[in-house]
Amino acid sequence: MQDSELRKNNEEFIRKIKEQDPFFFDELKKGQTPEFFVLSCSDSRVSPSIITQMPLGQMFVHRNIANQVVTEDESFSASLYFALEHLKVKKIIIKGHTECGGIKAAWLDNDEEELQGWISKIRKSFPNKHDIKEISLDELAKNNVLKQVKHLKQHPIYKAYGNDVEVRGCLFHVESGELERLT
Ligand SMILES: [Zn+2]
Repeated sequence: MQDSELRKNNEEFIRKIKEQDPFFFDELKKGQTPEFFVLSCSDSRVSPSIITQMPLGQMFVHRNIANQVVTEDESFSASLYFALEHLKVKKIIIKGHTECGGIKAAWLDNDEEELQGWISKIRKSFPNKHDIKEISLDELAKNNVLKQVKHLKQHPIYKAYGNDVEVRGCLFHVESGELERLT
């Protein structure tokens, strides 16, 4: 895709929105009151607002490879704090997906130096390889979401500012488009 196509698509996007609501952007600039805070994998196939057809302003999103809740990750901590304390989101959604390259790289012992720091974090949520005979990568992706839901509930920012905001885990199926609810 060329830059000019991105520009053309953007113009088309503006045109369609204004067609439905001429004042959409006037409202948008007043601020955001999103209902959801979403933690999603960075994978280009799983964009949270596209798969749920949510309009701009509804989802405050943090993305990283394999949707990890890492306590020492300052970027995630800041997003979580802002979502809870300032935006007062109503729900937190942790969304993994099938065919996840991050899960695959971590499970199949990718050895690229530049990836090791993050992969070691993904691996922390895996079951012990010696304890299980066979597990599919999609099963691991599902387990990973459940682990991250637990980590989120134990996160110091959530404990301090969460006020029991609901935390849900979901798995997006790349092969069908279905968003499966796990918790
Ligand atoms: Zn992924």
